[in-house]
Amino acid sequence: MAGKNGALSPGLYLVATPIGNARDITLRALDILRDADVLAAEDTRSLRRLMDIHGIALGERPLIAYHDHNGAKARPRILAALEAGQSVAYASEAGTPLISDPGFDLMRSVQDAGLSATTAPGPSAVIGALTLAGLPTDRFLFAGFLPNASGPRKKALRGLLDLTATLVFYESPKRLAAMLKAASEVMGPDRPATVCRELTKKFEEVRRGTLSELAAFYEETPPKGEIVVLIGKGEAVPVSEALVEDAIKEALTLMSVRDAADTVSAQLGVKRRDVYQMAMKIAKS
Ligand code: SAM
Repeated sequence: MAGKNGALSPGLYLVATPIGNARDITLRALDILRDADVLAAEDTRSLRRLMDIHGIALGERPLIAYHDHNGAKARPRILAALEAGQSVAYASEAGTPLISDPGFDLMRSVQDAGLSATTAPGPSAVIGALTLAGLPTDRFLFAGFLPNASGPRKKALRGLLDLTATLVFYESPKRLAAMLKAASEVMGPDRPATVCRELTKKFEEVRRGTLSELAAFYEETPPKGEIVVLIGKGEAVPVSEALVEDAIKEALTLMSVRDAADTVSAQLGVKRRDVYQMAMKIAKS
């Protein structure tokens, strides 16, 4: 069964769009944007600009804004179009929808309603950065954006400490130096890392070094633009006393000394007895 325009089957099309260079769009994505009955976008202006660049007219077709703040309101309209047998193309502002971008609830609702969905894959900063970072790509973990506040950020980093995989983060230029410093403190100053900035754009930059070198560089040279941080596999770095102390303090705000000792010992791979004694001291002080 064809959609109203006839060219596309009914269903949701998750369309990846460029992360910088407007020509990084697939031919199939352009076909879908041209032929879908309904368009939906996180940022309707960005999608219109992209369509203009590629000579695709919106015509009389509806263009629905669908983002984090209006999802609950906009979803019924998209679902109604799908239920009516139409094809709907959804694009986030840049890159692949759902990857640190809206679209998850939409996708779930479409599946729950038994409607059809497909992907038009294409650019995503996480994959672009992995290919350029010079770090192993056989196992990687995409951790999205870390929390902004320093306590929760360190806690999140500690949770990733013993993963033997390349870690990939999205980060804002304002927080880059602080993030690298925190990572260096938690994961060890010598751990290899790469910062990929402004991928596919005029000022693309890939900078490799250790966590402490990169932290020092970006502290001195505040960056601009869009950033992916990659951290290489850990080498079983000895856990510092300061790190254990930090983790215990954090745990004690949520749990008893016993539970904190269990949690921190499991998280950092440090003997429970040592952690317990330290936790007792901290709890008393
Ligand atoms: N959905 C997108 C994707 O598939 O990559 C990611 C959207 S997320 C809201 C935006 C973040 O992705 C930026 O803050 C930055 O960390 C990263 N990013 C996007 N474009 C980038 C680029 N050209 N160079 C480096 N990082 C980029």
